[in-house]
Amino acid sequence: MKRRFYPLLLALLVLLLIPGWAAAASSATEEAVNLMIGGQAVTPDVPPVIKSGRTLVPVRVIAEGLGADVAWNEAKRTAVITRGTTQLSLTLDSRTALLNGKQVKLDTPPVISQQRMLLPLRFVGESLGITVGWDNSSRTVIANETPQVTLNGRAPEKAIKLYQVSDTMYVSADAVAEQVGQKGFVWNRPERGMTIDSQLVLPIEQVEDELGGSITWNKKKNLLEIERLNRLTGVTKDGDRVHIEMKLPVQANSFVLTGPHRIVLDLPQTALADDLVEELKKNEENGSIGESEERKQAASSGEEDEQSAASEPKEEPLIASLRYSQYSASPETVRVVIELNQKSEYNLAYTKDGIEVKLTPKPKKTGYLIVVDAGHGGKDPGALGVAGNHEKDYTLAVANKVVALLKQYPEFQVVPVRTTDVFYELSERVAIANELEADLFLSIHANSFPKPTTGGTETFYYNANSKTFAQLVHKHLQGATQFPDRGVKASGFYVIKNTKMPAVLTETGFLSNPQENALLTSPAFQDKIAKALVAAIREYYQSYQ
Ligand SMILES: [Zn+2]
Repeated sequence: MKRRFYPLLLALLVLLLIPGWAAAASSATEEAVNLMIGGQAVTPDVPPVIKSGRTLVPVRVIAEGLGADVAWNEAKRTAVITRGTTQLSLTLDSRTALLNGKQVKLDTPPVISQQRMLLPLRFVGESLGITVGWDNSSRTVIANETPQVTLNGRAPEKAIKLYQVSDTMYVSADAVAEQVGQKGFVWNRPERGMTIDSQLVLPIEQVEDELGGSITWNKKKNLLEIERLNRLTGVTKDGDRVHIEMKLPVQANSFVLTGPHRIVLDLPQTALADDLVEELKKNEENGSIGESEERKQAASSGEEDEQSAASEPKEEPLIASLRYSQYSASPETVRVVIELNQKSEYNLAYTKDGIEVKLTPKPKKTGYLIVVDAGHGGKDPGALGVAGNHEKDYTLAVANKVVALLKQYPEFQVVPVRTTDVFYELSERVAIANELEADLFLSIHANSFPKPTTGGTETFYYNANSKTFAQLVHKHLQGATQFPDRGVKASGFYVIKNTKMPAVLTETGFLSNPQENALLTSPAFQDKIAKALVAAIREYYQSYQ
């Protein structure tokens, strides 16, 4: 369908803008509504009115401004608007209109004002394929031809709206960002834009500047061409990290698949770089489809040969293979698959040249598994010792010693919650133990009380299945510390309440008690405590095997 403004429009606009014609508009109240039609300010003889949130404008403005013909049927009190192959009939005070012969409902009927028929502009505009927007700050209705938009040569999946104000074309900025794979893009200079229909619109040059790629406005063809095809230039690994190298930033859509475990990243509006396409072709000829260079090198050096690996047990790398492919050609989507040897957590970091995927292994359960939880850590120091020391350092020192001792027993598999001064939520500590289906959970803490003479060792459990383990821990621990015996107690501390296996929390002694604090901070005494805890675990393990 051919759309154009009738040359008559300009003549009429000039006419409308001369003082006599504009007199009615200038007498309007402060609630005046401005019109911007086809990029030009238009002042109609009868000012537009707003009714129930809808702007009504004289029929002539619509007709001429939007390049339509209007016929008035006096008998039926109906305006028939024709634009191209579209015909719209609206009747005065009627909420029913006819669009190409079909009944459609209006929320605001046409009305008469100063002997002019006023029509709801947005309804009429949109029925006729015109873009209509409302800029609340300047109280301006903006209406213009609806341009065609192409994104990398195709129609975008979601509508991208354009508004013409004078000679500047404004585009719905967030819609463009989303369509090029940059949803949630933070604009550097939003103040250069306007808010139309509650959306940020920016001049197309600015969107191009900030997003990259090229955005061209072809006025003659009434066409906006967005060319922003990202290129994947490489996928490499470095230990437990994968680097996805790209020309332009895009947000990956990532998810996990199992059997085998793999992390999938879909890169929207992305194509493979030419050399990667070549490489894939070569690999296809060799029978290995979409595998990266590294995988091939590893395979040819026998590094990943399962038989040779089996003869010499060694730590299996987390990443089994890396693959990429042009997953979809329309719209272009590249898929990167990270195949794993075991279940892993992953984290995406966007860098200036792509995405870094950081993998954190989730250990597989292979033996009698003990999760050792050093209480507090990082931003959470725990209790304050009388020497200015922190509970988090005591718990970590003892936990690390317990972990080292437990590792000497081949029947035990030990997973520390933390081995450094980092913070974990209580829920994360519990999740580690529950997800691994650990056999025991031991949480190490130290106590504090305002009165410095208060002291002693106490041990907590919550679930009935933890009581025996708690009694053993307490027996060995109190025996080692020789602090006052505060006993074994049931208490609903989060980490022992929510773990599914036998779980115990020790409060070895009081950091607020000068004598106990001096011992608790001594490495030799910490060794003694660690040995006592390991003895308790071993006794528990032996009695339950
Ligand atoms: Zn604590």
